[in-house]
Amino acid sequence: MTSSAADNVYVLRFTFHVSRITHHVFRRLVPAVVRRYHDPAMPTFFDTHAHLDYPDFSQDLPELVERARVAGIERIISIGTDVESSRRAIALAERFEGVFAVAGWHPTHVLEAPEDLRPALRELVKHPKVVAVGETGLDYYRLPSRQPGGTPSNDEAYKRKQALIFQQQLEVAAETGLNCVIHQRAALEDTLTILQPFASRVRGQFHCFADDAAAMRRIVGMGSLVSFTGILTFKNGQNIRDALAATPMGHFMLETDCPYLAPMPYRGKRCEPAYVKEIADVAAQVKGCSLDELSATTCDTAREFFHKLK
Ligand SMILES: [Zn+2]
Ligand SMILES: [Zn+2]
Repeated sequence: MTSSAADNVYVLRFTFHVSRITHHVFRRLVPAVVRRYHDPAMPTFFDTHAHLDYPDFSQDLPELVERARVAGIERIISIGTDVESSRRAIALAERFEGVFAVAGWHPTHVLEAPEDLRPALRELVKHPKVVAVGETGLDYYRLPSRQPGGTPSNDEAYKRKQALIFQQQLEVAAETGLNCVIHQRAALEDTLTILQPFASRVRGQFHCFADDAAAMRRIVGMGSLVSFTGILTFKNGQNIRDALAATPMGHFMLETDCPYLAPMPYRGKRCEPAYVKEIADVAAQVKGCSLDELSATTCDTAREFFHKLK
């Protein structure tokens, strides 16, 4: 071997060695530094209602999940709004350890729903990370008669289909021992009427709760519970804060409903699971408890309600 060839081999071996050390440093040290960043004594929370499968998040999901973890948001439940969206939520639960899924069909999309959703739903909820059925329920806020060309008979057909698809989801929940994530807007009476016959077997999470304390008491009286979003932090959210103040500990959870309803100081921007922290700060003030107490009560309530949540 000539001396220059020997030099080359030496340089190559040296470079290889350095690159292995660099690789090792990055693999071991960087995650350790990132882990340090999340103080283990920090109170942890769950985002019990997020739409991670929406296109709003397609560009930065790994970073978003990491930001949530660093903020102490240990679990994120991604909610399906139809069969395809539920499949995407399940795929995300398979991809990220702290993400779980809920499978169902949203009331405002029922005109595209099959006449019998149950067979598809029974398959979806078998997945070990599907922790509830939904989101389902009734939404009379934007009825077809208020759209151009809509008539009252369109409203009746829409409401009938919402009731049918809601009832089918309650049936699958009852059969499989799961609870239901309930979306209810301007339709409280009809929602409670449909839920009532199932109430001994299925509990509902009335998500994005935006009604008064009297409505909350009827819901809790049926064994169901409520959950609060960033609306809690809005200047004009006093009625929601009053409803939370009246809600007994153990009967409410926290959620973002992201990408919607970013709490203060992010109002109007894209919401994400890390912002449960801002919602928790206000919730603790309203309940007059510490963040540690709020963490314990809301996480225990979520684990009990979504009993497949690990
Ligand atoms: Zn909803
Ligand atoms: Zn939702």
